[in-house]
Amino acid sequence: MNVNAPATGARLSCPICRRLMAFKTSTFTHFCKDCDYWGADLPVDIEGAGSDEDEISDEAYIASLEGLRVKNFALILKQLQQTKPESNLSILDVGCASGLFMRTAQQWGYTVTGIEPNQPLFAVTQRQGLNVMHDYFPPKQDLNKTFDVIIFNDVFEHIPDVHAILEGCNQYLKDDGVLILNLPNAHGLIFRFSRILATVNLLGPWNRLWQVMFRTPHLHYFTFESLGKLAAQHQFIAVSGKLQIATLEIKGLWSRLAVNGGAIGFFKNCIAYLGTLALYPVILLSEKDTFFALYQRKTP
Ligand SMILES: [Zn+2]
Repeated sequence: MNVNAPATGARLSCPICRRLMAFKTSTFTHFCKDCDYWGADLPVDIEGAGSDEDEISDEAYIASLEGLRVKNFALILKQLQQTKPESNLSILDVGCASGLFMRTAQQWGYTVTGIEPNQPLFAVTQRQGLNVMHDYFPPKQDLNKTFDVIIFNDVFEHIPDVHAILEGCNQYLKDDGVLILNLPNAHGLIFRFSRILATVNLLGPWNRLWQVMFRTPHLHYFTFESLGKLAAQHQFIAVSGKLQIATLEIKGLWSRLAVNGGAIGFFKNCIAYLGTLALYPVILLSEKDTFFALYQRKTP
């Protein structure tokens, strides 16, 4: 659990228009109405002794998440293939965690390099024989090479300086390279629903959404449109539409919920499970809680 101090109370600037933002919904969240961007003032401890993934030890839970993630990675790779059909592209996977995307992309015939700042996760990935570096992004050490593709899977929203990331992409992406951003959606149903609950002081889902209790919480919530404005400031233009990803499946839902143990946990899980089933038609029709998009550099 994150034992660092909570929000500092300072006002954050919007990374898109650079104006000071207003507090909204909770003491740590800030919103720019003009840009439709959400930011959080939360402490980050990427190099902590463990990793957030270590804190979840339930194998069934991890397995259920992995199945869904592999399926989503296949959607991303299919889209990449349509945009850039050449085989054997070089991919840089930023924040590769335990290498799940790397392994999936290798099966598709791509050459994948990972970069991971968290020591335990880096070690897990290296032990699998994957080509991974222990560093941040942009890396402290010059990589001395460029890539056909740079991808961020659930990573962009964790890094404080989004401008430094996009500058790093400009440095390490080939001229005709593709940047893939896969991240949570501020127009997603769970985001909207959690925000409604938070406004009546039911902060549990809202805090969970921002991963307040983790060493590496979510610091940003973009929409496809607000992310497009930010990317354009670094010459990246979307070459795909907003591609939505399902983050919830009925299959495996019970094991995902069953991380709360004990009798009270069981009771809560039953309510959450039945509630999700009842809401499922609404979930299917609404905007998904994660989206991805492909970007290329604007030619002058
Ligand atoms: Zn703004």
